[in-house]
Amino acid sequence: MINNFWINKKVLITAGPTKEYLDPVRFITNESSGKMGYALAEKLDELGAEVILISGPVQIQSEFPCDKIRHVVTALEMYEESKAHFGEIDVAIFAAAVADYRPLSESKEKIKKKGEELTITFIKNPDIAYEFGKVKKLNQISIGFALETNDIVFHAKEKLVKKNLNFVVINSPNLQGEGFGGDTNRISILAKHKSITNFELKSKKEVANDILAYSELSILS
Ligand code: C5P
Repeated sequence: MINNFWINKKVLITAGPTKEYLDPVRFITNESSGKMGYALAEKLDELGAEVILISGPVQIQSEFPCDKIRHVVTALEMYEESKAHFGEIDVAIFAAAVADYRPLSESKEKIKKKGEELTITFIKNPDIAYEFGKVKKLNQISIGFALETNDIVFHAKEKLVKKNLNFVVINSPNLQGEGFGGDTNRISILAKHKSITNFELKSKKEVANDILAYSELSILS
């Protein structure tokens, strides 16, 4: 990597899961550990970037300065916090596993056990990457993640176009050591008008390095 490329670049990173509450003690969430987003934040901080890390609820021991983390819980909060920075950032990395839907209403009291069935209506959450894609300026770069179980490249291409991303980092939960939870990841990167680049299984720190080196090269070329 070129030593000074990331110095003073403003980079927004979303990381971790979101929690969508049904009542005061129950919620919908997912398995995201936040490790990939935090690894990117740590590396960028080390390289001199100005990182805005917007994190869902995670349990991580991180070297990233904790006073620079903006903690959020729900997808709506993550969206509002991110949106406030859309105009000022150079690069956005959407590494969070944002809940696509939230309960239409959050019960003020604990939901009581009643009949044999319980129906809950969900409504769509804002898609942060998509919303940024709509307002993104020519000099702003956005990177998304795609975690798919089937037709991986097809879905990743769809996201690239729909969310107006510059790159999509593909990982799959199918194979051991990849994706959610663990300390390692095997990624491929898809960029507009380019063939796919595959990487070996590596630690998430090394993967963060690969993503940033790839981005840097593509931005410069
Ligand atoms: O469509 P899908 O959720 O699979 O796309 C994943 C990408 O979109 C990730 O980069 C994720 O962080 C981002 N995303 C988002 N807001 C959402 C859903 C996904 O920013 N509500």
